[in-house]
Amino acid sequence: AQSRYASLRELPATALCGTTIGLHMNAGLMADLPSLAGSGAEGVGLFRTELQFLIRNHVPKRSELAAIYSNVLDAAKGKRVAFRTLDIGSDKVLPYMKRVEEPNPAMGWRAIRVGLEKPGVLRMQLQALLRAANGRPLTVMFPFIAEYDEFRVARQMALDEMERERRLGHILPASLEIGAMMETPSLAFAPDTFFRETDFISIGGNDLKQFFFAADRENEQVRRRYDMLNTSFLRFISQVVARVGEFGTPLSFCGEDAGRPVEALCLAALGVRTLSMRPASIGPVKHLIRKVRLSELRDLLTAEMAKDSVNVRPAVMDWLARQEI
Ligand code: PEP
Ligand code: MG
Repeated sequence: AQSRYASLRELPATALCGTTIGLHMNAGLMADLPSLAGSGAEGVGLFRTELQFLIRNHVPKRSELAAIYSNVLDAAKGKRVAFRTLDIGSDKVLPYMKRVEEPNPAMGWRAIRVGLEKPGVLRMQLQALLRAANGRPLTVMFPFIAEYDEFRVARQMALDEMERERRLGHILPASLEIGAMMETPSLAFAPDTFFRETDFISIGGNDLKQFFFAADRENEQVRRRYDMLNTSFLRFISQVVARVGEFGTPLSFCGEDAGRPVEALCLAALGVRTLSMRPASIGPVKHLIRKVRLSELRDLLTAEMAKDSVNVRPAVMDWLARQEI
């Protein structure tokens, strides 16, 4: 399927109205990296670091992690890689971690909550990332930030580790970008300071959607009940775009919906200028963006939201049928 879109690989995702959308890919393994060139992705918008922890029966050593992250950066050949720190909870149990029984693990002790309360592993991971950068730019993002304080403390931890590297005489990254993943609605209403402090925000749409609609993403009975094209969710995204816009904070979206062409178009039309998706989706999403006027779709979405529409999918499909694609 990728070859169908090969002719688009070097072309930007520029819509007919002139707006350009940055398309990045999600990854989690070294084996994903060849897709960076193959798909034409501008970078890795989400590098999930869980796998290196899940495939071992012991906590990986700092040197092991640093070697892996360094290989990832080598393979990225200067393209940006957003490393997401460990997002592990009692649903994704590490074989060497004491199991904590929780009634609702997805909203339990996971991700940054673990990292802040048991900081040893997070610190070690940050050190490994700083060493792997070895003079190159480094981008780190923290998962599941629900309130500003969590981001403030995690960011300070990264800055402290950077200071420690300096004291030890190690080569520092050329730059350090620190961002937050917005995966709970609460973060959209964080104090202004959060938006000023974070270098970027990446919306984790999979989790955000499950908490927005209170519909478990793992539960077959409810997981398809609500979708991203629901006007409640679109209004929320519009508000996030507006809030983030006040501060000029770069905003991206890295959930599965970013790789669904119709959903991707709607996100772009609402003002999300960077999307990160599985590599195979880049071609189809780029193809569609290049065929439409996002400004026109934006007007359509605004009109649908002003009406009593519950979901914009029918209207968007109608509109798409009238485009020359
Ligand atoms: C998300 O929640 O949208 C996300 C990108 O993270 P994950 O799917 O790994 O939870
Ligand atoms: Mg998530």
